[in-house]
Amino acid sequence: MSESALPTLNTWVEIPKNSDFTIYNLPFGVFKNKKLSPRIGVAIGDKIVDLSVLDQEGFFSSLFLPEGIFMNDSLNELIALGKAQTKKIRERVQNLLLEENEELKNHSARGKVMVNRKEAEMLLPVKIGDYTDFYSSIEHATNVGKMFRDPENALLPNWKHLPVGYHGRASSIVVSGTPIHRPKGQFKDPDMEKPAFGPSRRLDFELEMAFITGKQTKLGDTVSTGEAEEYIFGMVLFNDWSARDIQAWEYVPLGPFLGKNFGSSISPWVVTLEALEPFRVEGPIQEPEVLDYLKCEKSHSFDINLEVFIQPEGKKASKVCTSNFKHMYWNIAQQLAHHTVNGCNINVGDMMASGTISGSTENSYGSMLELSWKGSKAVPLEDGEERKFIEDGDTVIMKGFAEKDGIRVGFGEVAGQILPAKN
Ligand code: MN
Repeated sequence: MSESALPTLNTWVEIPKNSDFTIYNLPFGVFKNKKLSPRIGVAIGDKIVDLSVLDQEGFFSSLFLPEGIFMNDSLNELIALGKAQTKKIRERVQNLLLEENEELKNHSARGKVMVNRKEAEMLLPVKIGDYTDFYSSIEHATNVGKMFRDPENALLPNWKHLPVGYHGRASSIVVSGTPIHRPKGQFKDPDMEKPAFGPSRRLDFELEMAFITGKQTKLGDTVSTGEAEEYIFGMVLFNDWSARDIQAWEYVPLGPFLGKNFGSSISPWVVTLEALEPFRVEGPIQEPEVLDYLKCEKSHSFDINLEVFIQPEGKKASKVCTSNFKHMYWNIAQQLAHHTVNGCNINVGDMMASGTISGSTENSYGSMLELSWKGSKAVPLEDGEERKFIEDGDTVIMKGFAEKDGIRVGFGEVAGQILPAKN
């Protein structure tokens, strides 16, 4: 636990007030623009540090990196260098951006290194090999249990003993800004005699965060909770789009399928665990006691403020949810330990999402399913609009940031617009 205040770092880069991308953050992403082919950069203020140019100019010569490591359309190869190396790269960038460091500040290549973020197009940061979605918020699982099963026994008997999860589809995970067509499928509401087919009428978002694995294991290997963070490179915001009507009809007995795999959206900047370190907090008390392989020596929870906005086409965005990542009952180390306890292997670039992150108050529910309580009440938006679920043309925007002692480390946002179903 780092309870002491962070040392103050000043940078020569102009950082707008409330910027997510401070000198303390320095997340990695993949970008291109009209002139530049895809490459790896680090966000700071309104700029991107083009790491490929820094490398060409010899700024990383003491690290002996593989040639062209930053001229890549994904972070996988970089992440695969291992945490010791990626930490050094991030520290070197941080050092070059410090007010007192003149190496880059006064270098002739400075203009070429610092790219305007506004003019850049962000790409999917990792080639995602496998994607797993957990179900780790006790508030969310309890709400869903109350709605669909027994309000008196909302949690299923296994829930407090293991982090429930399922294998999702990696191919349909897209970067923020990518529109998603309303999915079509089968549904059968309780009042319907037989199933029908058509565009989903209960399209929803799920407010989640996801971690990206940075180290491979072999089939048969396990990762303990104590080792888990060595295997986690960083985190992104994750919108796990969900078609509730399709999901409700199809999920028995094998779990989520077409109600989920039509698309998930992620934020483009991967915030490292190193940047999140100051925001580590105690997690919730787990009662009953968990089995030994799920016990943790230290806390793996992080205080990250989360917000969801709905913006109807051509209208103002309205905030519909304020939550926090620290609410999660099961933490990232327990999720990874459980995932591998049977010998399931992981690869660099796997993505593991948290499950919907709901808090205990009604304004902290992380899905429309909960906010509208299964569609039984409308959620008011600005301009007299209201929603029970997501309509065509709506853009859903999720934001996340951690803040402490005046230091801010944020994720930017993940935004996605829902287009009408394709014919
Ligand atoms: Mn989910």
